[in-house]
Amino acid sequence: MFNLCEKFKVKAVFFCEKSVSLWLIYLDMRKILFFLLPILQFTACNHATRNTQTEQKTVNVPSFSSDSAYQYIQQQVDFGPRVPNTSAQLACANYLSATLKRFGAEVIEQKADLQAFDGTMLHSINIIGIYNPKAITRVLLFSHWDSRPWADNDPKPANQKKPIMGANDGASGVGVLLEMARQFGLQQPNIGVDIIFFDVEDYGSPESSGGQNTEDSWCLGTQYWAKNPHVPGYTARYGILLDMVGGPQATFQREQISEYYASNIVNKVWSQARSLGFGQYFVDQKGGTITDDHVYVNKITGIPSIDIIQFDANSGTGFASYWHTVDDTMKNIDKNTLKAVGTTLMHVVYNEK
Ligand SMILES: [Zn+2]
Repeated sequence: MFNLCEKFKVKAVFFCEKSVSLWLIYLDMRKILFFLLPILQFTACNHATRNTQTEQKTVNVPSFSSDSAYQYIQQQVDFGPRVPNTSAQLACANYLSATLKRFGAEVIEQKADLQAFDGTMLHSINIIGIYNPKAITRVLLFSHWDSRPWADNDPKPANQKKPIMGANDGASGVGVLLEMARQFGLQQPNIGVDIIFFDVEDYGSPESSGGQNTEDSWCLGTQYWAKNPHVPGYTARYGILLDMVGGPQATFQREQISEYYASNIVNKVWSQARSLGFGQYFVDQKGGTITDDHVYVNKITGIPSIDIIQFDANSGTGFASYWHTVDDTMKNIDKNTLKAVGTTLMHVVYNEK
């Protein structure tokens, strides 16, 4: 993925204009709310008391093990870079499918040959784990599992043609979702859940290539699935993408494409995180505008989807210093961050009815 604000300023302005008009509406609403607030607060208190009592009785959220999630990241990294058309890709695909099956999911491997920006034909494998397949109400959780074939952001030119290990950029989201899958296998949530590990997210054209269609050269596995879902007419209540969710002291801001398509889901996840004491990770601030898998899920399937992604407005790229470098290794994976993300999402999913 990359930071759209840097490279697609025209589109970024579109989102910014939307934000301005929303802000004006918000200011108007504030005036109205000033008068209504005492009444609303009184009503809300009554509801909150009742809801809390109901939830305490019915919702039992299993605890998320960051040790397990860490191990699942390590196991992916141990295969080496999971670059399309390599033996590491096949070995890791087998591992991911087998693990989801072991955790009680119905598994589909969706294979397709997809053409990269440079003409290379890539053998893509999307891996889909299905829980409670008959449930009408569903939540979609997704991450990409491939790793970038080039460390083209590495400061050392000698490293820029090497593949990245993708401990954070790829394996971290998958590791969190595998631990959630383990918990789903032990105690089914009330709703249906689909976990998708998308392939060929990170084969996008390097800046140096100067190629056409730069934006759409990313997220090829997701684009394919969105046009050819594993169930015809597939839909879900909402989708959540996890990308780079394991960095030490990571902060996740409100990413702007998520905000545009699914601000209520951003609110739901960020407020859940805050109530669990993870507000230092899920920061209530405007984030970047990122080309990532959720863009295509939103645009093509219409499932309102958000991106939980580490963002640093002060770095040159918008991402951590080791992003798309050979330093994206296990040394940059922190169990505290995994715990914050995994625990938050467990509470979100298990509270759905
Ligand atoms: Zn990447």
